[in-house]
Amino acid sequence: MSLAPGSTIGIVGGGQLGRMLATAAARLGYRCHIYAPDESPPAADVAAAFTRGAYDDLEALETFGGAIDVATYEFENVDPHAMAFLSRHARLRPSVFSLDISRYRPNEKEAAAKLGGACADWRLIDTADGLDRAVAAVGTPAILKTCAFGYDGKGQARVDSPAEAGAAWAAIGQTVAILERRIDFLAEFSILLCRASDGGIVYWDVPENVHRDGILHRSTVPAGAAVRAQIAPARALSAKVAEMLDHVGVLTLEFFATPEGPLFNEMAPRVHNSGHWTVEGSVTSQFENHVRAVCGLPLGSTALTGSRVEMENLIGGEADGWSAILADPAAHLHLYGKGEARPGRKMGHVTRVFR
Ligand code: ADP
Ligand code: MG
Repeated sequence: MSLAPGSTIGIVGGGQLGRMLATAAARLGYRCHIYAPDESPPAADVAAAFTRGAYDDLEALETFGGAIDVATYEFENVDPHAMAFLSRHARLRPSVFSLDISRYRPNEKEAAAKLGGACADWRLIDTADGLDRAVAAVGTPAILKTCAFGYDGKGQARVDSPAEAGAAWAAIGQTVAILERRIDFLAEFSILLCRASDGGIVYWDVPENVHRDGILHRSTVPAGAAVRAQIAPARALSAKVAEMLDHVGVLTLEFFATPEGPLFNEMAPRVHNSGHWTVEGSVTSQFENHVRAVCGLPLGSTALTGSRVEMENLIGGEADGWSAILADPAAHLHLYGKGEARPGRKMGHVTRVFR
């Protein structure tokens, strides 16, 4: 199936990822229809249509499915059952399977391990007994992470010593979680790939990612030597994951570079913050290639447009510095049109491409 320009792409989720997808789609002549529960989501400002509905409102999803030619999602914290229902009313790319695996930490880690990937040691916790057993097995320092709904370091608590485990589990609401060994990594990086509907895979250059307080701060391409040495095995694993999922669209896998090789952390079945630099830093951005894949079109070149690219997030009040950023003629400023600049909220980003 290939969908001609002029067709309508439905996007579940209305955040900045949907906004940048819709912008890329519009450039290719597609219309986007956003589905989200929010009153005025950032993506709706740049889309042809917007339906406000809960992610589990089956009636609204059915109507939405009837109004679009293909559906995708920019947010994975949605109920897979609702997306399975939507997929009966519109072709969904990537599939519910990709969503199901990547929205739940134990699923993604088990999937990676089955395909030969290594992860930081982890255990599932769903009872207080389980917590004690996990601490004994994993050791400290460790991190507790909720199995689902986590992003930007939310739903996580540090466990520096076994005595802290109970309080840490209470801090994340005693919900089903994993305890994961804390890794003293050399660097963090992500594999950004796009798999076309015919199974062909393209990769972007690998960004080295620096986080602050669990939130991505900066992505730099090319990555440093420690990361570059681990790209080949990380890409090989990523390709296996994409094929196992029969994934169509962008898929992102986050890794820790360690002296023993890459450790898989988590994956996202979608465009990713660590790929925002591709808008100006590569011939075809992650957003455009995702649109192309979803519409069954050939993918564009992922070649770099410069020798070095740097993307920095604007978190909370940092976006207030927009006029100083614009004073730098080399800076590409992106603001997401979010009203309130709450601390920790991603308000925009800035990309610089060096020739
Ligand atoms: P999120 O879904 O919030 O992105 P992550 O598991 O990617 O969750 O954690 C966010 C960040 O926290 C990571 O990018 C990394 O900087 C840090 N982190 C997470 N897990 C570990 C770990 N096991 N060891 C060291 N740092 C970690
Ligand atoms: Mg992450």
